[in-house]
Amino acid sequence: MNLVTQLRDITGAEHVLVEPAATAPYLTDWRKRYHGAALAVVRPGSTDEVARVVAACAAAGTPMLPQGGNTGLVGGSTPDADGNTVLISLQRMNRVRAVDRENDTITVEAGCVLATVQQAAREHDRLFPLSLAAEGTATIGGNLATNAGGTQVLRYGNTRELTLGLEVVLASGEIWNGLRALRKDNTGYDLKQLFIGSEGTLGVITAATLKLFPLPRAQVTAFAAVPTLHAAARLLDRARAGAGATLTAFEVMSVGCVRRTVTELPRVRAPLPLTSAWYALLELSDHESEAHAATLLEEILGAAIESGDVEDSVVAASLDQSKSLWQLREGIPEAHAKAGGNVKHDIALPVSAIPDFVEATNAELAARFPWIEPAVFGHLGDGNLHYNMGTREGTPIAVAFGREKEINAIVHAAVAKRAGSISAEHGIGQLKRAELPNFKPAVELELMRRIKQALDPQGLMNPGKVL
Ligand SMILES: Cc1cc2nc3c(=O)[nH]c(=O)nc-3n(C[C@H](O)[C@H](O)[C@H](O)COP(=O)(O)OP(=O)(O)OC[C@H]3O[C@@H](n4cnc5c(N)ncnc54)[C@H](O)[C@@H]3O)c2cc1C
Repeated sequence: MNLVTQLRDITGAEHVLVEPAATAPYLTDWRKRYHGAALAVVRPGSTDEVARVVAACAAAGTPMLPQGGNTGLVGGSTPDADGNTVLISLQRMNRVRAVDRENDTITVEAGCVLATVQQAAREHDRLFPLSLAAEGTATIGGNLATNAGGTQVLRYGNTRELTLGLEVVLASGEIWNGLRALRKDNTGYDLKQLFIGSEGTLGVITAATLKLFPLPRAQVTAFAAVPTLHAAARLLDRARAGAGATLTAFEVMSVGCVRRTVTELPRVRAPLPLTSAWYALLELSDHESEAHAATLLEEILGAAIESGDVEDSVVAASLDQSKSLWQLREGIPEAHAKAGGNVKHDIALPVSAIPDFVEATNAELAARFPWIEPAVFGHLGDGNLHYNMGTREGTPIAVAFGREKEINAIVHAAVAKRAGSISAEHGIGQLKRAELPNFKPAVELELMRRIKQALDPQGLMNPGKVL
């Protein structure tokens, strides 16, 4: 029996897609940079079906690619062009299996859309804090496989920190049930950590047990105009000291990003005149009251205005206003995609190194490419910037893409010089695979290869990604 027929037997023929019109949406990435081909797209509906699909592919020596919402930004969820891969879409595995309010945990299948998990937690008066602009489409499986960060890392950590247990179908087709709901468990190697951030190269995550938190009484957001990134870093310091764990987000955006978002997305409006070089978005999540959070924010911003670190600011007076401030930040990727994209870098540095990095690297790039226009935004509180490069008015963006390798080389060298990371939250995928050996010690890469060999000896899990 050929493999496609076996897959049809496992999941039902309607869940095995082979026609180009049906498979096309799975074979191009969100940024439309990568285009692949597949032997079939299979949509299993249970862990048992995933296990049987994987076992059949393993027996046939056929490469496999797990895919969630296909919103990844490094080409990790796009197969190569050979057409030999079986793409395993987890989208039908979208059930919330259990919520344990007293234990503050939720167990969900990997294909659950992130927004659905947030909503399920809210219905039990709990918070699932992972939050990112693609949350209406991205799945928990994809979030886990990329160890996604997002806007609440400052307070709650990355996906890794939010995970207590995993269920994984191994490359052999065996099921590992590690769905523990424990905050303490020192019984040997913590295997779930291997699969978190593995980008589909070690196994298929089918379910997870995740941490929940008390739902804050109020979330209040402010938007502040700051003259420099140094001033933004001082404002972050002041906000941390003043608000402690109540500070749940601290984002920065260059004025160019804000202008682009307002221009490209009619639904988004700027709450202040766009006359400063940088803007910060602060969010407090308060367990007392909205008034308490607003007063605290006003005190922090008032003191920063007096010291000259903030030039102007607005505190949202309602939930709707908070949402509209967040749209300004979360609309940035969409606005740039609409305008033709840009050369992206997802970098991490010690927060203390960020202002100098941006000043020095902007200057180095401008000296080499006079047409370049930085579009920088990101999670300053986590030391993570999306340090993206577009072109000035009059120069097509294709010019920047034509020099992408040189731009990357300058940016990544500047990151390495300051002991940073060339991938803070998006992963390696195929976009940064060739560069990884330049930034990881040989010993570390060799350990990664040995882990891959141990868990996927045939090299069938998402080949051509990461390593
Ligand atoms: C507008 C926008 C904003 C974003 N903002 C952020 C942000 O703020 N922070 C951030 O960290 N990321 C962000 N991202 C990227 C982010 O990584 C993804 O949105 C998300 O985490 C991926 O989920 P997905 O279900 O779409 O995964 P996919 O794109 O389908 O897959 C991503 C990778 O995970 C693997 N994978 C998927 N599911 C599984 C599974 N069940 N088992 C094993 N491997 C699997 C795939 O093989 C692939 O390598 C953003 C993306 C977009 C489009």
